[in-house]
Amino acid sequence: MTDIMLISGGTLIDGTGADPKPNTGIAVAGNQIIALGDEATNLVNDPTTKEVTELDAAGKTIMPGLIDSHLHCSFDDVQSNDELFFHRDPTLVALVAAQNLRKMLRAGVTSFVDPDTSHGIGPALRDAVNAGVVQGPRIKTGVQALLTAVGGTAGRLIPDEGTVGYAQIVNSKDEIVQWVRRHIKYGADWIKLHATGSVPGRSGELLVWNREEIKAACQTAHELSVPVMAHCRGAQSVQVCAEEGVDLILHASFMDDDGLEAVISNGSSICPTFTFLANLADFGSKVHASPGMEDIFRGEIEQTAKMIRKAYDNGVRILSGSESGFALTPYGHWHGRELEIFVNSLDLSPVEAITTATKNGAWAMQMEDQLGTIEQDKLADIIIVDSDPTEDITVLNNKSEISTVIANGEVLNLSELWPSREQLAGWKVGNWASEILTWDKAYR
Ligand SMILES: [Zn+2]
Repeated sequence: MTDIMLISGGTLIDGTGADPKPNTGIAVAGNQIIALGDEATNLVNDPTTKEVTELDAAGKTIMPGLIDSHLHCSFDDVQSNDELFFHRDPTLVALVAAQNLRKMLRAGVTSFVDPDTSHGIGPALRDAVNAGVVQGPRIKTGVQALLTAVGGTAGRLIPDEGTVGYAQIVNSKDEIVQWVRRHIKYGADWIKLHATGSVPGRSGELLVWNREEIKAACQTAHELSVPVMAHCRGAQSVQVCAEEGVDLILHASFMDDDGLEAVISNGSSICPTFTFLANLADFGSKVHASPGMEDIFRGEIEQTAKMIRKAYDNGVRILSGSESGFALTPYGHWHGRELEIFVNSLDLSPVEAITTATKNGAWAMQMEDQLGTIEQDKLADIIIVDSDPTEDITVLNNKSEISTVIANGEVLNLSELWPSREQLAGWKVGNWASEILTWDKAYR
C-alpha cells in the first residue's frame, strides 16, 4: 500500500459534536484520513503498509483544524479606516497578507472564509495557496463587499460611486446585478452585502439596502451557484436579508423574533462574530480604544446572545468567526475566542462550541463532504492540543497550547510560522496627536 502517519494515544474530538473518544488512533495517508480507531492501529502491522511515522498524542486532544468563518486576511491588523482605504498599495496588500496567513496556521486555523478583501486580492491569494505559491490555510473568499452609496461602517470615507479598498459601491439594481456577476467572474466564492451602515448623527447601524436590491443580489448570485452573506447589525436587516435569500448572516445584532423566524424559514446560517466586540469591551482600554463604550458593547453581546441561543435551539447553523485583521483582533491571537464566548454567553458545551469551528465551518467553506470533521476519507487538517478543551475551552485561543498543526496531511514546522517584519513605508497612518493641545494643557 503506502506510507502512513499514525497519530496515537490521544483523545479525539472529531468535530461532529460526538463525545470525546479517549485513546483513538488516526491514520493519515497523503492528505487524507484513511482509518480511525483499531482499524488505524492495525494498519501498522498490515503487510501492505510501507512505512509508518508515529505521532504520539498521549495525554493530548486531537481535533479538526479550526475553521474561522469570518476574518479579513488583507487588512493587516488595521488601526483606522483611513489607513485601510487610502494608504495601502495593492501589491503590498497581497504580499503582506501572504505573510500573515502563516500566523493563522500557527494558531491552528487550517481554513477560513474572508467576506471581502482590500483591492479584491482574495481570489488571487486563495489560488496562490492552492498552487503552493504561498503557505496558508485553505481560503474561501469574496472579492469586495457591495455597499450602497450610504456606505457601511466607514461613514463618509466611502465615495458615492466606484471602488475603494474592500468596498464596491452599487447605485442601482442594474449595478448590483453587474457587480455580482463581475465578482463571480473574478473568482468570488461568496458575495458579501454590507446591509447595514452607520450614518453620522444616527445611532446604531441602519439598513441601507432595500428589499428589491437585496433580492436582486441574491437571485443573481444564486443563479450562478454562489452563496451570499450580509453584514447585519440591526434587527430589521436580519429579517429582510433572510427573507430575501441571504445564506449567511454576519453579526445578527439585535435580531428579534421576526428575524429569527425569517432565518429559520429561509434556512440561513449565522456567524455572530462576538469576538471583536468582546475584545473591545474586555481589553479595549489596554490599547486606548473607544473609552466609555465598554458597556454598550457588552450590552450588544448580551442582548444578541439570547437570540442566538434561541436560534441554536431551533436548529440554525451557528458559525465561529473572529473578525481577525483589525488592531483589536490581530491574526493568530484570537481565532478561538469566539468559542469561549459561545460557552459563556450562549451556554453551549465545549464540544458544541467546537462544532461551530469545525463541522459548521466546513459548510461556509462549501466543503462539507471533505472538511471539518475527523472521519474516514476526509482531508487531513488536524490539530493536537496539549490540554483538554472540554475542561477549559480557552486553551483553543492560546497558541502555545497547540503543539501540532497538520494541514492537508503535512505536519507543519510551527517555529517557522510566526514571521516578523520591519516597518513598511507609508503603511501605517500616524495621528497628529491623540489629544488637542489647548493652552490649558500646555500651561496649567
Ligand atoms: Zn467582518
